[in-house]
Amino acid sequence: MKKLKSTTVTINRIFKTDYISGEKILANLAELIRKNHKVRNLILISDKKVFALHGFKILSQLRILAQEPLVHLIPQGERGKDLATFFTSVQKLLSRPLTRDDCLIALGGGSVSDFAGFLASVLLRGIKLILIPTTLLSMVDAAVGGKNALNLKIKDKLIKNMIGTFYQPNLVITDLDLLKTLPDREIKNGFGEIIKYQIAFGRPAINNMSLSDIVKECQKIKLAIISTDPFDDSGVREKLNLGHTIGHAVESTAKGKISHGEAVAVGLVAAASMSCQLNLLKKETKEKIISLIKSTGLPLKIKGLKSSEILKALTFDKKNGRFVLIEGIGRTKIYQQIPAEIINNAILEVTS
Ligand code: NAD
Repeated sequence: MKKLKSTTVTINRIFKTDYISGEKILANLAELIRKNHKVRNLILISDKKVFALHGFKILSQLRILAQEPLVHLIPQGERGKDLATFFTSVQKLLSRPLTRDDCLIALGGGSVSDFAGFLASVLLRGIKLILIPTTLLSMVDAAVGGKNALNLKIKDKLIKNMIGTFYQPNLVITDLDLLKTLPDREIKNGFGEIIKYQIAFGRPAINNMSLSDIVKECQKIKLAIISTDPFDDSGVREKLNLGHTIGHAVESTAKGKISHGEAVAVGLVAAASMSCQLNLLKKETKEKIISLIKSTGLPLKIKGLKSSEILKALTFDKKNGRFVLIEGIGRTKIYQQIPAEIINNAILEVTS
């Protein structure tokens, strides 16, 4: 097997995560796991679609490591992150003996890794966890950093990511080859987060880098941030939320009709709008940001959403009224208490 470069990140001297990325590396999955990690029983968590495409290849490797790995499939997308899925999963997984040396392996996009991360963190107060991201978005964001989440429904309203823990995986394996089956819309979805990195940190330069290098660069940026602010309490990690305050409110108002990446793109436009209104950002830079988003094919606005509903969704936001604003490409500022009129104007700009 070709020698693979792995990055080990130690968080708070407690968690040690190995990040390995490359192409066609899953053919040696058993060896990659065995090299540094002692695991007993294995539980493969995936969604039906991803499992049908890639599950058997992964299972054949897992069978080298453990007899009869358990396969547990959850619904695709946000439904996989609801409490009902959580309760059924806990019952199924605890219906046979489980030890803290057993390992959950999440094969899927951000919804699978968010779900599996939460599950691994609470089963027996924490069992082992390996993430194999299969979407661009999960490779550059969701599978990196140790946050996980479930969604909550309150009076028919889906409130995303309201329940969750910080729980670092033992190993994250990124194989770019998995993206070959990913539909174009999902690739675009991933670019929502990639553009966020470019605006917040000034890199990666998406127009002249290979996708593989873009993924590695995004992971590098996020790992540098999370290793200094693992629990999102020193403010450093907040930069990663650029575009997400209004983005999440738009996403929950759209009730599943738009992707996370599309919501983030619209949230970035709203952040640029608020920054301009507060004279933090030059109009020309805002235009640059808009053309950057346009170049990925992501939307600049979502028509037909009620701004009053987006405002209502904002009141449920965990960030408690904090917004990340833009001073320039690669320069952000955390802002509290933005006047309601400025928020309203930004929401109107992205919905009408
Ligand atoms: P997803 O996991 O819902 O996957 C999207 C669709 O693509 C699904 O239908 C899935 O079956 C399919 N799919 C996945 N991989 C595929 C492949 N290789 N080939 C073909 N089809 C494939 O979506 P996502 O965009 O990866 O993740 C979104 C979720 O991630 C959201 O719930 C969001 O809140 C979460 N998220 C979490 C973090 C974090 O830090 N924890 C960060 C960003 C996003």
